[in-house]
Amino acid sequence: MTHDAQPQASHFIDGAYAEDPAGAEMAVIYPATGDRIATLHEATPALVERALASAKAAQPAWAAMSGMERGRILRRAADIIRERNRALSELETLDTGKPLQETLVADATSGADALEYFGGLAAGLTGEHIPLANGDWAYTRREPLGVCVGIGAWNYPTQIACWKAAPALAVGNAMVFKPSETTPLSTLKLAEILTEAGLPPGVFNVVQGAGEVGAALVTDPRVAKVSLTGSVPTGQKVYAAAAAEMKHVTMELGGKSPMLVFDDADLDNAVSGAILGNFYSSGQICTNGTRVFVQRGIKEAFLARLAERLSGAVMGDPLDEATNFGPMVSEGQMNIVLNYVAKGVEEGARLVTGGQRADRPGFFVEPTVFADVADDMVIAREEIFGPVMCVLDFDTEEEAMARANATEYGLAAGVFTRDIQRAHRVAAGFEAGTCWINSYNDAPVEVPFGGTKMSGVGRENGHAAIEHYSALKSVYVRMGDVDAPF
Ligand code: NAD
Repeated sequence: MTHDAQPQASHFIDGAYAEDPAGAEMAVIYPATGDRIATLHEATPALVERALASAKAAQPAWAAMSGMERGRILRRAADIIRERNRALSELETLDTGKPLQETLVADATSGADALEYFGGLAAGLTGEHIPLANGDWAYTRREPLGVCVGIGAWNYPTQIACWKAAPALAVGNAMVFKPSETTPLSTLKLAEILTEAGLPPGVFNVVQGAGEVGAALVTDPRVAKVSLTGSVPTGQKVYAAAAAEMKHVTMELGGKSPMLVFDDADLDNAVSGAILGNFYSSGQICTNGTRVFVQRGIKEAFLARLAERLSGAVMGDPLDEATNFGPMVSEGQMNIVLNYVAKGVEEGARLVTGGQRADRPGFFVEPTVFADVADDMVIAREEIFGPVMCVLDFDTEEEAMARANATEYGLAAGVFTRDIQRAHRVAAGFEAGTCWINSYNDAPVEVPFGGTKMSGVGRENGHAAIEHYSALKSVYVRMGDVDAPF
C-alpha cells in the first residue's frame, strides 16, 4: 500500500505555505515500509530570511494583544487539534513509524494539552508589586523575549513543536520552528491550525532543513532565544553558538536514565514501568529508563515476568490499531541500534531476548533485553535510543544510588518500591530533572520537564516554562525628591 502524505508546500511562512524548489530535496520515508511518502525542499537562505523577517515584524503586535486574547487563540487551536486527532495521528504515524495506537493518545493530544494549558495561563501572567523604604516601590513586568527559535528531534514532532510554541506564544513571542529533517510533516499542520485559530501571520513559522538551516537560525542576531530538543553533541554546538550573543536557551537533550527496582516492589508494576520506559515508541524516548537496576532478590522473578509480558508485543503495520510496537524512525537509526546490540554481545552481556532486525520490510528491531550488564559496558553508558533494555543487579540502596548517578546524563530516573520513606529518599538523591515513584515516563503538561548535567538546561511545561520564554523587567518608582550629592 502506498501512502501520500505530500504537504501543499515545504514551509509555512507569514501565515501561508511557502516553497523554493531551489532548496535541496528532502525525502520523507515511511519507516514501516521504506517507501517515500513525500518530497520536500530544504529552506534556502532566502526563505530563512523571510521567516525571520516575518517573525520579527509580527511579534510586537502579537505582544501588544492582551494575554486573554492570545490565550483564546491558543485554546481554539487546541480544540481544532482534538477535532482532527485521527488525521493528525495518522500523519504522525506515517512521519515517525510510531503505532497509531500510540499517536492517537500521545502526540497531537499532548500538543493540544500544551496549547490549552499555556493558553489558559496567558491571561494570568502578571508582575509583582514590591513596597520599599520611604514610600517608594517597584514593580516587575514579565515581557516577551522577541523572536524565539525552536528546533525539534524526530521522536515526538508534534509534541515538541507544541511544548515550545505554546509557552513562547502565550507570553507574546513569535517563533520560527525547524522540525527534524527526518519528520517534517506534522509541524506544518500545526502552523496551518494555529493560523485557522486566528494566529496573526508571522507569529509561528516553519522552515525545513537539516543542521545548517538550524545553525543559520541560531546565529541570526534577530533571535533572542533558542530551544532545542536533540542530542548532547548538537546541544553543545547550539548552546555555544547562542552564547556568543548571550541568547537565552532551553536544551532538552539525551539521557541514559536509571530505574531502580527494589525487592519489595510490586512486580507487575515494575515490569510495566520497565516496558513503558524501554519499548514505548520502540525505545525512541529521551527519558527512557534504559539502565534497569534490579535488586538481587527479585531479579529472576523480574526477568521471568518481563519475558512473559514481552510476548504480548505486537509488531506490525503501525497504521493497524492492534500494533503496539513499530519500527525505528529510519534505516540509519536502526543500524545504530543494531550496532549497539552487537557491542553488548561482544562485551559479554547476556542477551535474554530480541537483538535482531525483524524479518519484514521497514526498519524494525525486536524488543531487546540484556541481563548481567556491567556498569562499564558501552551499552550501559551510551544513549542507544532504541528498544534495548539493560538489566543490572544490585544489593544495597546506597550502592544502587551511587551507580545510578554515575553518568554524565541527568534527564530522568525512576524507583519502584513499597517503602514510602525509601521512595522519597531515592527521588531526592537522584541527579536528574524528572523522577518517577512507582511509575515511568508520565509527562503531563502541568509538570515542569527537563534535565540536569549533560541532559540540558531550562524547563519545558508547567509554570516554569513561562520563565524560560520571558524576561523580568524591574521598574523602580521614587515617590519623593531625588537626593543627589551635588
Ligand atoms: P539531533 O541532535 O541529531 O538533531 C536535533 C535537531 O537539531 C534536528 O532538527 C537537527 O536538524 C538539528 N541540528 C543538528 N545540528 C544542528 C546545528 N549545528 N545547529 C542547529 N540545529 C542543528 O537529534 P535527533 O537524532 O533528531 O533526536 C534524538 C536525540 O534527541 C536523542 O539524543 C534524544 O535523547 C534527544 N531528545 C531529547 C528530548 C528531551 O526532551 N530531553 C526529547 C526527544 C529527544
